[in-house]
Amino acid sequence: MFRSHTCGELRESHINESITLAGWVQKSRDKGFMIWIDLRDRYGITQLIFDEERTSKKLIEKAKLLGREFVIQVHGTVIERASKNPTIPTGNIEILVSDFSILNESLTPPFTIEDETDGGDDIRMKYRYLDIRRNPVRENLVFRHQVTMAVRNYLSNKEFVEIETPYLIKSTPEGARDFIVPSRMNEGQFYALPQSPQTFKQLLMVGGMDKYFQIVKCFRDEDLRADRQPEFTQIDCEMAFVEQEDILLTFEGLTRHLIKKIKGIEISNFPRMTYDSAMKLYGNDKPDIRFGMEFGELNEFAKHKDFAVFNNSELVVGIAIPGGNNYSRKDIDKLINWVKRPQIGASGMVYCKCNEDGTYKSSVDKFYTQEDLSKWAEATGAKAGDLICILSGETNKVRAQLSALRMEMGERLGLRKNDEFAPLWVVDFPLLEWDEETERFHAMHHPFTSPKPEQIELLKTAPGSVKANAYDLVLNGNEIGGGSIRIHDKETQAMMFEYLGFTPEEAKAQFGFLMDAFQYGAPPHGGIAFGLDRLVSILGGQETIRDFIAFPKNNSGRDVMINAPSYIDDQQLKDLNLRLNEK
Ligand code: ASP
Repeated sequence: MFRSHTCGELRESHINESITLAGWVQKSRDKGFMIWIDLRDRYGITQLIFDEERTSKKLIEKAKLLGREFVIQVHGTVIERASKNPTIPTGNIEILVSDFSILNESLTPPFTIEDETDGGDDIRMKYRYLDIRRNPVRENLVFRHQVTMAVRNYLSNKEFVEIETPYLIKSTPEGARDFIVPSRMNEGQFYALPQSPQTFKQLLMVGGMDKYFQIVKCFRDEDLRADRQPEFTQIDCEMAFVEQEDILLTFEGLTRHLIKKIKGIEISNFPRMTYDSAMKLYGNDKPDIRFGMEFGELNEFAKHKDFAVFNNSELVVGIAIPGGNNYSRKDIDKLINWVKRPQIGASGMVYCKCNEDGTYKSSVDKFYTQEDLSKWAEATGAKAGDLICILSGETNKVRAQLSALRMEMGERLGLRKNDEFAPLWVVDFPLLEWDEETERFHAMHHPFTSPKPEQIELLKTAPGSVKANAYDLVLNGNEIGGGSIRIHDKETQAMMFEYLGFTPEEAKAQFGFLMDAFQYGAPPHGGIAFGLDRLVSILGGQETIRDFIAFPKNNSGRDVMINAPSYIDDQQLKDLNLRLNEK
């Protein structure tokens, strides 16, 4: 056997046993007459000892040559350690080495392989295989494995079948650009990598596989935003013979199970909120409900006085910041500058202090009476001691700005706790979304999403107001899953494509296969997909999804370790019938 034990395994009960270990040299301390080496593998660290009295001179000389990250195989005897180390499980023993062999040498690593390393992000990504030797990274990967196993077991026990769908497909529009793969054998033709297995999982429903899931890579060629990966993993699910309620209950069950199993936290009910109320109360379709600070709309109490800024605004809306009454003028100025930063984009901020004695002091006292201000306090839920922050402007913009302020204040006040889990369903999303740039409607979720049947007629007169049977699962301010009940008849699907600006010919060319399938007894169906990377990072209580991906790409979509993307040689280009544009 290559090794009899791992480096995390030996205890006092093993004393006097002959063992063989293998691993990496974490560090060595050479006192001349004695050498200690920390040997590390995935499971832990075990101390090796060489000393003049008990170890041969030759072996000591050889041990002196060992550098950090050398790989060695060690034979020896477990002995009791003189000075015990209570911080590690193997701290009561050490190995008196009788022989060892160097399996491989190592260059000095470019950063320390310690929990707290001196390596910056870039260097750690370039040498990710070394980074993975560090406990925090290794633990995250193991954690991800535990989450995926819990998902697989749960769904499998509920009779879901994991089925693989192809990666080389025809483009599926989900709102992003496709990654394209040229076909060598079909000159001038291209595959697309799936943005999600959407159409395939629907075809599996037509195929009668009424409960499907897949833990699957998806690819979206989007402009990179912070903490987005061009390839990411979804827990992709679909069910036939269901209504929205069945899907919500099933996947609420999965999420509850994961939070219980992984975090030991019991969550009884998942509140539901319509998209419209989420926007009204939190200015956001993925509200963080771990804390309050709900929006209070103030049009009624703030407009039609003499304050032109508010009178000219579509929406005047505020939040109450708990304890904000004692902010100094300087603190408040800082807050005003914060909302005026280009990333937030507010033109200014009005505030109102709620004094302990029940009076109010606002930055617009000239225009408003104490009675007016008391109504602001009532609408925002402000209590004595709070500070009301008010923004105004065009509805969508001002909601987004105030939402950013709410999240920032939640963070500053320590209300967004890592160990608290507050999931909710956001339901009744709009079916369509107006796109200013192309000046037409886009599907808000995707073109296969079913409108609320009773609102189909409205599509003709007020398409923007039609709601869909679409839902998102939100956890701590993040969308962790989203899905919909699908259209399952050809006519409705054809009509939908028409609203989205496809000619019948275009719809047939791109989605003929799906509409054909709908003519062969397609059952009612619906589904959801969870973003696994995000889910794992939230359950793991960490911010960035990159920490839970073995080989992530950087913010410009590059893998700096293998240096991809990269140029290909002329012969490859020729084989693929591709030519680069003349320079
Ligand atoms: N395909 C959708 C997505 O990737 C999820 C779904 O509708 O099931 O967001």
